[in-house]
Amino acid sequence: MSKTKFVDFKAVKAAITMEQVLEHYGILDQFKRGTDSLSGACPIHKGSNPTQFRISISKNIWNCFSECKHGGNVLDFIARMDDVSILAAANKAIEWFHLDPEEMSVNSEGEAGNEAPKSGDAPRPTAAKPAPVVENSAPNKPLQFRLDKLMREHPYLTERGLSLETIVDFGIGFCAKGMMAERIAIPIHNAKGEVVAYAGRFPGEAPEGTPKYKLPQGFRKSLELFNIDRAGKESGLLVIVEGFFGCMKLHQFGCRRVVALMGSTMSAAQEELIKRHTDRNSQVIVMLDEDEAGRAGREDIAVRLAKFVFVKVHTFAEDGQQPENLSAEEVKQLFI
Ligand SMILES: [Zn+2]
Repeated sequence: MSKTKFVDFKAVKAAITMEQVLEHYGILDQFKRGTDSLSGACPIHKGSNPTQFRISISKNIWNCFSECKHGGNVLDFIARMDDVSILAAANKAIEWFHLDPEEMSVNSEGEAGNEAPKSGDAPRPTAAKPAPVVENSAPNKPLQFRLDKLMREHPYLTERGLSLETIVDFGIGFCAKGMMAERIAIPIHNAKGEVVAYAGRFPGEAPEGTPKYKLPQGFRKSLELFNIDRAGKESGLLVIVEGFFGCMKLHQFGCRRVVALMGSTMSAAQEELIKRHTDRNSQVIVMLDEDEAGRAGREDIAVRLAKFVFVKVHTFAEDGQQPENLSAEEVKQLFI
């Protein structure tokens, strides 16, 4: 009899979080963060009501109160999103998150035809053992192509206050066709300056069901810090913002040592990148958006960074404000 290996669903479920899965789908940003919850429109039935889908972070489960009338764990979620079986979902998760397949499998104990026991006291595989997540060291691969013929001049970019110089400097532009068609393509570089992905921003208010940002499948933004390749070479205050546009805008106003997390949380890999580009005397300003997610994120980030640099948290006076709203004069006063 051949030795059958079964995927240990419990181990896979324990190894990944709903947040990671949402991030994999590039939709984490679309959810509103509560103390122990993420809520938003249901990505499964592609709803629009932002209260119909809820995730419990601590329980690592989700529920759609609307059309799906269903909830479940991370694997159920992947299975529904991709319309596949739970087994296929588990195998996808193992691949996406680089889990160790050995740790994620249990040997068949078989009903009748067990293989000869190798030794009397060999420990039996236990399905419930929490799976250690294999430290994923696989970096995002540098792209082998460039999106050329990007339109540098586009009303959306003007609207957001970017100068042509900034647009050219960051290599962004409107993409007419291909993977990022009808979107503003924003190249993301790794710390070495290699392009590892293009983010595609919908130029304007994204219609229902259309994500604001599109990222390539498999790209892990949690491994990168936008603009670190250039900010890392500058000296002085390091400013950390959430988004591409805030970062580009501050840069335009003369704040050159600025990076974007591409979200309101800081991953371990991003923390490590910041550590590598600072020293014990460095000063860091955490300037996230003045909203629920930003406020939750900045506290956590400040605590973690304070272990190795001087951290200051910037707060905005009014709800909804973000770095992009700062005027050139304000940026100058704050950072330069
Ligand atoms: Zn639903």
